[in-house]
Amino acid sequence: MSTKYVYFFGDGKGEGNGKMKELLGGKGANLAEMVNIGLPVPAGFTITTETCTHYYANNKQFPAELKAQVEEAIKKTEKAMGAELGSKTNPLLVSCRSGARESMPGMMDTVLNIGMNDDTVQALAKHSGNERFAWDSYRRFVQMYGDVVLDLKPRSKTERDPFEVALEHKKEKAGVTEDNQLSVAQLKELVEEFKALIKDRTGKAFPTDPMEQVWGAIGAVFGSWGNDRAVVYRRTYGIPHEWGTAANVQAMVFGNLGDDCATGVGLTRDCAIGTPGFCGDYLINAQGEDVVAGIRTPLRIEETLAKDMPSAHKQLDDIGIKLEKHFKEVQDIEFTIQRGKVWMLQTRNAKRTGFAAVRIAVDLLEEGLIDEKEMLAKRRIPADDLNQLLQPIFDPASKKVAEKEGRLLAKGINAGPGAASGKIVFFADDAEKMFEKDPKTDLILVRRETSPEDLRGMKAAKGILTAFGGASSHAALVSRQMGKACIVGCGALDINYEAGTITVGDKVLKSGDFLSMDGFTGEVFEGKVTTKPSEVIQVLITKTMKPEEAETFRRFDKLMKIADKHRKLRVRTNADLPNQAEEAIAFGAEGIGLCRTEHMFFDHLDEIREMIVADNLEHREKALAKLLPFQRKDFAGLFKAMDGKPVTIRLIDPPLHEFLSDAHLETDPKLADKLAKWSGKSVEEVKKRVEELHEFNPMLGHRGCRLGIVYPEITRMQARAIFEAAVEVQKAGVKVFPEVMVPLAGFAAEFKNQEKIIRETAEKVFAETGTKVEYMVGTMIEIPRAAVRADQIAENAEFFSFGTNDLTQTTLGMSRDDYGPFIGFYRENDIIGNDPFQQIDQDGVGELMKIGVERGRKTRNKLKIGICGEHGGDPSSVMFCHKIGLDYVSCSPFRVPIARLSAAQAAVEG
Ligand code: ADP
Ligand code: MG
Ligand code: MG
Repeated sequence: MSTKYVYFFGDGKGEGNGKMKELLGGKGANLAEMVNIGLPVPAGFTITTETCTHYYANNKQFPAELKAQVEEAIKKTEKAMGAELGSKTNPLLVSCRSGARESMPGMMDTVLNIGMNDDTVQALAKHSGNERFAWDSYRRFVQMYGDVVLDLKPRSKTERDPFEVALEHKKEKAGVTEDNQLSVAQLKELVEEFKALIKDRTGKAFPTDPMEQVWGAIGAVFGSWGNDRAVVYRRTYGIPHEWGTAANVQAMVFGNLGDDCATGVGLTRDCAIGTPGFCGDYLINAQGEDVVAGIRTPLRIEETLAKDMPSAHKQLDDIGIKLEKHFKEVQDIEFTIQRGKVWMLQTRNAKRTGFAAVRIAVDLLEEGLIDEKEMLAKRRIPADDLNQLLQPIFDPASKKVAEKEGRLLAKGINAGPGAASGKIVFFADDAEKMFEKDPKTDLILVRRETSPEDLRGMKAAKGILTAFGGASSHAALVSRQMGKACIVGCGALDINYEAGTITVGDKVLKSGDFLSMDGFTGEVFEGKVTTKPSEVIQVLITKTMKPEEAETFRRFDKLMKIADKHRKLRVRTNADLPNQAEEAIAFGAEGIGLCRTEHMFFDHLDEIREMIVADNLEHREKALAKLLPFQRKDFAGLFKAMDGKPVTIRLIDPPLHEFLSDAHLETDPKLADKLAKWSGKSVEEVKKRVEELHEFNPMLGHRGCRLGIVYPEITRMQARAIFEAAVEVQKAGVKVFPEVMVPLAGFAAEFKNQEKIIRETAEKVFAETGTKVEYMVGTMIEIPRAAVRADQIAENAEFFSFGTNDLTQTTLGMSRDDYGPFIGFYRENDIIGNDPFQQIDQDGVGELMKIGVERGRKTRNKLKIGICGEHGGDPSSVMFCHKIGLDYVSCSPFRVPIARLSAAQAAVEG
């Protein structure tokens, strides 16, 4: 049997349908689908993408069977339209249109009005009773065919289209400004001039045989798959070159027959903010490309079409409703109105912003077009896009002005979504002071990079901008946790702390100058760009808006509630402070998955430093005793805020030199003296002790449970603070549920060592206070050995939490503080597909996670398992966690809604 290369559509029936996008391309499949559901579509046929593949594989030759199949399809088209190609009484004209599996807007070619020659133009004039229209169509055809098929298109940006030049001369000579003001005689002259141009450039006469024209156009459409523009586009968007395009040959309908005709493009509802109702552009008495070509300014469908053409407007509305009912999605359509009748030429699912995505999904549900599961579909609302509803945004008009004025300075990695505008400040303590003086000042903290000591300065700033670091650098991580706009790795910025300047090219900005940054895009602007907080934030966090006044919030909330109903994964948050915890609860967090206790130490550096320089147990315990009340108070605050929800507290994790190092001694000249006084040692001895703390590879050094094992008194103090706080809060009538987490254990013995101290301390506190508190002791799984020996660790550990930041570092042997210089190269050269610190490396790290889950649960079948790395807020990683059977994910407060939606998407899409 010979291969079927051609699929006809018309007379109320398509041989293909909407599901056949691979074979028929998006445009062809949906043209057939529209015919099948009874919409008015001019008849025609689709030549398959396989034909295109064949064409390229065979030296640009068509398959032998194609000719007969095309000729037969042309006959059917002629019959359906009641007109004939080349007829001298009632000629059929066709278009030949490209259309790949995925839309590649404007990248490939289309030819309109095929079938025109000196005879058919006369026939068309007579048949339509409109001579001007006939010659206008002829003029357009020769021009388009010349450009697309005969290759007269300009080859460089500076070159001009020869036909456009001729057209302009003609208009000038005639003293008119618009194409449609040219007379019939002038159009006739133009056709002759165009033909002469072609003869002159190609050495051949313009082809007059309609069938020859059709074949020329088909070849050109296939050829356009291989043009430079299309190739570059595919590379950018990851579309395989093997796919090929389909070619759609379709009977022409005319929007240029008079004032009861038009052509247009539209959306079945607005896709920027999601408002219901048909909207779009149209042009009266015009053809196809005119609307997008910007030759004349189009009119707005929602504003004037009802008045201009009431019947056509009604038809369009009905078509929009029918399309949405059928496709269950907003459609992006192309149409032509011929003598008052609407003809459909294209439809596809419309692209939209996060705002529109949420509104449209909820509206479609409320209108009964889709059910809850369909509403949650990942392609409908990419979970990450929820960010747009949470973050302050730039006022679009103000951003446009900044761009126009040339104030775009540089682009970095968009690490924390949100827009911020404020004064440049280089030092965290300056930021803090300025903020204390005037909490209303908007500040942008600009650093080469940030460290834990910058925390309070970061809190004071509206946005954080760094010249170095990647998407999981300290700055990025902390900003996301705080929900602040953040751009990192903005290498174009030359930051000079001493001079207090940022230099970008020939521009120099000083401390105190205004800077604006768009964390959604990574763009940095000089000067001010106006921002505003999102509605969702105003309701949930700042409480400056009532839920009932907030339409966007209402839909967001509905979406979240439905997501909660369908998801299996629980969602927790990474939070160290009561106010972060409260924000996270407002966003729907069901517990704390990671409280990093060392953040608390940074607020009490004196005491921890005293502990570090002490050289005997007694002295260390004395210093630790000073820290105890601070920790207890912090934990009590967290327990209260979480009100009975589980709180996972991780014991101290970073190496001690993060609290005390040579660099600290250098920047604070009085510090060594102070330490000497505290420890009763000489300054020299103190310096030596500090030097000892230095590590060559801190990531793999004396940190995590290794600290608590060597210095059990630290674990003892932390456990005591946790249980005393728990008892205190429980006595006050608030439920508590602490989960004490041991970091970085790889050997079961490491865990057991720490577990013993924790449980003994708990028992002591319970005995002292006469109150018992329910609690668990578990561990992070963050080095490969722990995953592999999860069976042994689970004998004692009551829960696991995958620390995927460290697990990724240790599995890949790749430091997340040092991967910046090569990761970009790796991604551009397809060495690895994604940033493994943003999306779980499923084949590697993910495999270890699977082993950890499997072996852990073999020992303890109800073992509670979660994830608390940055990946816990990444949609693809959340879906993976669902798949391997975790109980919960934990992420920064502002990513909680994203995790809730991702978890639901994992549950409904599997
Ligand atoms: P693109 O993929 O670049 O949008 P199309 O193949 O959709 O290219 O063609 C562009 C425009 O040309 C269409 O939106 C439509 O307005 C016009 N057009 C194409 N085919 C026809 C036709 N058979 N009748 C009338 N107009 C057409
Ligand atoms: Mg189109
Ligand atoms: Mg870790």
